[in-house]
Amino acid sequence: MGWTDERTELMQKLWQDGLSASQVARQLGGVSRNAVIGKVFRMGLQRGAPSRPTRAVKVRPERPARPLRNPQPRPPRVSPPMVARYVDETPGIATPSTIGAHMCRWPIGDPTHDHFTFCGRGSDVGPYCVEHAGVAYQPRTQKTSAANLARSLRRYL
Ligand SMILES: [Zn+2]
Repeated sequence: MGWTDERTELMQKLWQDGLSASQVARQLGGVSRNAVIGKVFRMGLQRGAPSRPTRAVKVRPERPARPLRNPQPRPPRVSPPMVARYVDETPGIATPSTIGAHMCRWPIGDPTHDHFTFCGRGSDVGPYCVEHAGVAYQPRTQKTSAANLARSLRRYL
Protein backbone atom coordinates (compact mmCIF):
# COMPACT_ATOMS: atom_id res chain seq x y z
CA MET A 1 0.00 0.00 0.00
CA GLY A 2 1.43 3.41 -0.93
CA TRP A 3 1.36 6.80 0.76
CA THR A 4 -1.75 8.66 -0.25
CA ASP A 5 -2.07 12.22 0.93
CA GLU A 6 -4.63 11.10 3.44
CA ARG A 7 -2.42 8.36 4.87
CA THR A 8 0.60 10.62 4.92
CA GLU A 9 -1.37 13.19 6.88
CA LEU A 10 -2.61 10.60 9.34
CA MET A 11 0.90 9.19 9.76
CA GLN A 12 2.19 12.67 10.40
CA LYS A 13 -0.48 13.31 13.04
CA LEU A 14 0.13 10.00 14.82
CA TRP A 15 3.88 10.56 14.79
CA GLN A 16 3.54 14.01 16.25
CA ASP A 17 1.14 12.66 18.86
CA GLY A 18 4.12 10.72 20.12
CA LEU A 19 3.36 7.25 18.83
CA SER A 20 6.30 5.03 18.04
CA ALA A 21 7.00 4.04 14.44
CA SER A 22 5.61 0.55 15.00
CA GLN A 23 2.46 1.96 16.63
CA VAL A 24 1.99 4.33 13.71
CA ALA A 25 2.46 1.42 11.30
CA ARG A 26 -0.15 -0.61 13.16
CA GLN A 27 -2.63 2.28 13.14
CA LEU A 28 -2.18 2.86 9.41
CA GLY A 29 -2.15 -0.78 8.44
CA GLY A 30 -0.47 -2.06 5.33
CA VAL A 31 2.92 -0.50 6.06
CA SER A 32 5.90 -1.76 8.00
CA ARG A 33 7.59 0.02 10.88
CA ASN A 34 10.58 0.61 8.63
CA ALA A 35 8.40 2.19 5.99
CA VAL A 36 7.08 4.63 8.60
CA ILE A 37 10.59 5.47 9.79
CA GLY A 38 11.68 6.02 6.22
CA LYS A 39 8.74 8.29 5.54
CA VAL A 40 9.36 10.25 8.73
CA PHE A 41 12.97 10.81 7.73
CA ARG A 42 12.10 11.88 4.21
CA MET A 43 9.57 14.38 5.50
CA GLY A 44 11.93 15.67 8.17
CA LEU A 45 9.20 15.34 10.77
CA GLN A 46 9.83 16.43 14.33
CA ARG A 47 7.96 15.66 17.48
CA GLY A 48 6.32 18.43 19.45
CA ALA A 49 9.25 18.80 21.83
CA PRO A 50 12.33 20.38 20.28
CA SER A 51 14.90 17.81 19.34
CA ARG A 52 18.49 18.14 20.46
CA PRO A 53 20.03 19.41 17.22
CA THR A 54 17.54 22.29 17.16
CA ARG A 55 18.46 23.29 20.69
CA ALA A 56 22.18 23.22 20.07
CA VAL A 57 21.73 25.52 17.10
CA LYS A 58 19.72 27.90 19.24
CA VAL A 59 22.16 28.07 22.15
CA ARG A 60 25.43 28.43 20.27
CA PRO A 61 24.88 31.84 18.64
CA GLU A 62 24.00 33.35 22.02
CA ARG A 63 27.27 32.41 23.69
CA PRO A 64 29.72 34.60 21.80
CA ALA A 65 27.43 37.56 22.35
CA ARG A 66 27.55 37.36 26.14
CA PRO A 67 31.24 37.96 26.89
CA LEU A 68 31.15 41.10 24.77
CA ARG A 69 29.08 42.88 27.38
CA ASN A 70 31.35 42.07 30.31
CA PRO A 71 34.81 43.45 29.47
CA GLN A 72 33.70 46.98 30.24
CA PRO A 73 32.40 47.14 33.79
CA ARG A 74 30.40 50.25 34.44
CA PRO A 75 32.34 52.88 36.36
CA PRO A 76 30.77 53.70 39.71
CA ARG A 77 28.35 56.55 39.23
CA VAL A 78 30.07 59.09 41.44
CA SER A 79 29.93 62.67 40.37
CA PRO A 80 33.20 64.35 41.42
CA PRO A 81 31.91 67.97 41.34
CA MET A 82 29.14 67.13 43.81
CA VAL A 83 31.49 65.35 46.19
CA ALA A 84 33.94 68.24 46.03
CA ARG A 85 31.23 70.73 46.96
CA TYR A 86 30.10 68.68 49.93
CA VAL A 87 33.33 68.54 51.87
CA ASP A 88 31.74 67.68 55.21
CA GLU A 89 30.83 64.11 54.33
CA THR A 90 33.89 62.82 56.11
CA PRO A 91 32.78 60.86 59.20
CA GLY A 92 31.92 62.98 62.19
CA ILE A 93 33.51 62.62 65.61
CA ALA A 94 30.28 61.71 67.42
CA THR A 95 28.05 58.67 67.14
CA PRO A 96 24.40 58.44 68.20
CA SER A 97 25.58 57.08 71.56
CA THR A 98 28.28 59.70 72.19
CA ILE A 99 26.55 62.80 70.84
CA GLY A 100 26.37 65.37 73.63
CA ALA A 101 24.36 68.47 74.41
CA HIS A 102 26.84 70.93 72.97
CA MET A 103 27.91 68.98 69.96
CA CYS A 104 26.93 69.61 66.37
CA ARG A 105 24.05 67.28 65.50
CA TRP A 106 24.60 67.42 61.76
CA PRO A 107 23.98 63.85 60.53
CA ILE A 108 26.64 62.37 58.32
CA GLY A 109 25.93 59.27 56.32
CA ASP A 110 22.94 56.98 56.32
CA PRO A 111 21.19 56.63 59.71
CA THR A 112 20.35 53.03 58.84
CA HIS A 113 24.03 52.12 58.57
CA ASP A 114 26.59 51.43 61.27
CA HIS A 115 29.00 54.10 60.11
CA PHE A 116 26.42 56.81 60.65
CA THR A 117 27.86 59.67 62.66
CA PHE A 118 27.14 63.19 63.76
CA CYS A 119 29.49 66.04 63.05
CA GLY A 120 30.19 66.34 66.80
CA ARG A 121 32.07 69.62 66.77
CA GLY A 122 31.09 72.34 69.19
CA SER A 123 27.59 73.61 68.49
CA ASP A 124 27.70 77.37 68.16
CA VAL A 125 24.50 78.08 66.25
CA GLY A 126 21.52 76.13 67.55
CA PRO A 127 22.25 72.42 67.34
CA TYR A 128 24.96 72.88 64.70
CA CYS A 129 28.52 74.08 64.35
CA VAL A 130 29.03 77.28 62.38
CA GLU A 131 29.73 75.47 59.18
CA HIS A 132 26.68 73.24 59.32
CA ALA A 133 24.44 76.01 60.55
CA GLY A 134 25.43 77.77 57.34
CA VAL A 135 24.07 74.86 55.37
CA ALA A 136 21.05 74.26 57.59
CA TYR A 137 19.88 77.87 57.75
CA GLN A 138 20.27 78.79 54.13
CA PRO A 139 17.30 80.37 52.33
CA ARG A 140 14.62 77.82 51.59
CA THR A 141 15.45 77.11 47.96
CA GLN A 142 19.11 76.52 48.66
CA LYS A 143 18.31 74.45 51.71
CA THR A 144 16.14 72.23 49.55
CA SER A 145 18.87 71.74 47.02
CA ALA A 146 21.32 70.99 49.81
CA ALA A 147 18.93 68.35 51.11
CA ASN A 148 18.62 66.90 47.64
CA LEU A 149 22.37 66.89 47.33
CA ALA A 150 22.73 65.07 50.63
CA ARG A 151 20.13 62.54 49.57
CA SER A 152 21.79 61.89 46.23
CA LEU A 153 25.18 61.59 47.90
CA ARG A 154 23.89 58.93 50.28
CA ARG A 155 23.25 56.68 47.35
CA TYR A 156 26.97 56.60 46.69
CA LEU A 157 28.09 55.95 50.24
ZN1 LIG B 1 28.92 70.36 62.28
